Amino acid sequence: MNPYCPHCKKPIPVEPGSSADPSTAGNPYFPFCSDRCQMADLYGWLEEQYCIPAVEQDSESEDNDPVIDSDVDPLEES
Ligand SMILES: [Zn+2]
Repeated sequence: MNPYCPHCKKPIPVEPGSSADPSTAGNPYFPFCSDRCQMADLYGWLEEQYCIPAVEQDSESEDNDPVIDSDVDPLEES
């Protein structure tokens, strides 16, 4: 079973029979599916750490800030 990209939730492409380290599954961007997702997730994380005004950081006032469906974390749905 392929691992899933934590950013776009798509299966990470792996090379069957690859002799690469299983921790990378032959994918240089592991655990992401691509460099795009890797960078997107990285920058998203950094922005959060640097406290750049985010749109979904105020979970306590969720009623006056509609969240985009495509970016909702299922685990955070109340
Ligand atoms: Zn991805």
